[in-house]
Amino acid sequence: MADKGTLIVFSGPSGAGKDTVLEEFFKRKPQGVWKSISNTTRAPRDGETDGIDYNFITVDDFFNVVDNNGMVEYTKYGLNYYGTPKAPVDEHLANGDTIILKIEVEGAGNIKKLYPDAVGVFIMPPSLEVLENRLRRRGSENDEDVQRRMNIARNELTFKDNYEYHIVNDELEQAVNDLCDIVKALQNNF
Ligand code: 5GP
Repeated sequence: MADKGTLIVFSGPSGAGKDTVLEEFFKRKPQGVWKSISNTTRAPRDGETDGIDYNFITVDDFFNVVDNNGMVEYTKYGLNYYGTPKAPVDEHLANGDTIILKIEVEGAGNIKKLYPDAVGVFIMPPSLEVLENRLRRRGSENDEDVQRRMNIARNELTFKDNYEYHIVNDELEQAVNDLCDIVKALQNNF
């Protein structure tokens, strides 16, 4: 039994399917795996629950946590702030768990500096065209937001080589299988 867990940074452009893949992954009840819940200043989307999908907080509260060294990393993405609360990450690491941080590329880089053993998993759409269609279908973003996220996505895709593993989310089931295989391989490393 390991006394120190594994950090997985799970990134990929908005619309690549990170949430859906993670949701399906957790339905398979993987043992000893915990997903970090980020703080964000963005408004909840339909179907999102405070304390489960994110901790939805005000900008003032966000920076109070930052000022108290309560976040491992944080960033501005689009018009909103996102950050990883520190205490639960430390607890789960000490507990020997596998921790999944669903964060963007800059945050992932910062995590890798702080935790050199962290493993990167990058999820990609089959193409930029598919990505744009997914973002539009989601309907929660206006045209300006979709364009902003597409610009960020083009930039994010250039970071994919910083990640140890790549998953192409063409077929959901296969993408979830790929993630399961990666997590199992990392757990077996102990
Ligand atoms: P969304 O608004 O689509 O939920 O998230 C936008 C982006 O912010 C996604 O790439 C997501 O992975 C990233 N993100 C979510 N939480 C965090 C966090 O705590 N830190 C960083 N650096 N990025 C985050």
